[in-house]
Amino acid sequence: MASALSHGVVALGIGACFYGPGVPKRVWVAGMFCSMIPDFDVIGFRFGIHYGDFWGHRGLTHSLLFAALLASTVMFVGFRRVAPGLTRLPMWVYFFLATASHGFLDAMTDGGLGVAFFSPFDNHRYFLPWTPIRVSPIGVGRFFTDRGLAVLQSELLWIWAPAALLALSAWLIRRRVAPST
Ligand SMILES: [Zn+2]
Repeated sequence: MASALSHGVVALGIGACFYGPGVPKRVWVAGMFCSMIPDFDVIGFRFGIHYGDFWGHRGLTHSLLFAALLASTVMFVGFRRVAPGLTRLPMWVYFFLATASHGFLDAMTDGGLGVAFFSPFDNHRYFLPWTPIRVSPIGVGRFFTDRGLAVLQSELLWIWAPAALLALSAWLIRRRVAPST
């Protein structure tokens, strides 16, 4: 895992690309929620599920299919009526990308097993060819150590900075496309 907060930051960065005036804040909160949900699979460790199992960490909940299902569920539960400023398809795409970004981030970490992007069809665990992000320890308690600090540094560099850059680019492009009168 990358840390939960960093997953949320990425969701906000992606959200900046979908931003429009009047979009309710709960859309972005829901996006952050989507980006953090996949790691709830660590609960499985308590029930004897192993890391590499189908239900194991970075398994089904980190797959693209899960991202599609979660996006649909969040729309169904929280956004049945059209929100102002964001139509249904872009909203679904936003929730999908926010969730899927989790797996991609994990696949760029330097530890653990890879991500089962294509579960349930293929339980193979994948890493991206480039894994610059230090893997975050599982559990908050272990985060506040020297290793936690190293993780934080690598996440600031490889996650927060690109997310901020993405948000800034989206903002600049929007200004060019729709200059204020
Ligand atoms: Zn994860």
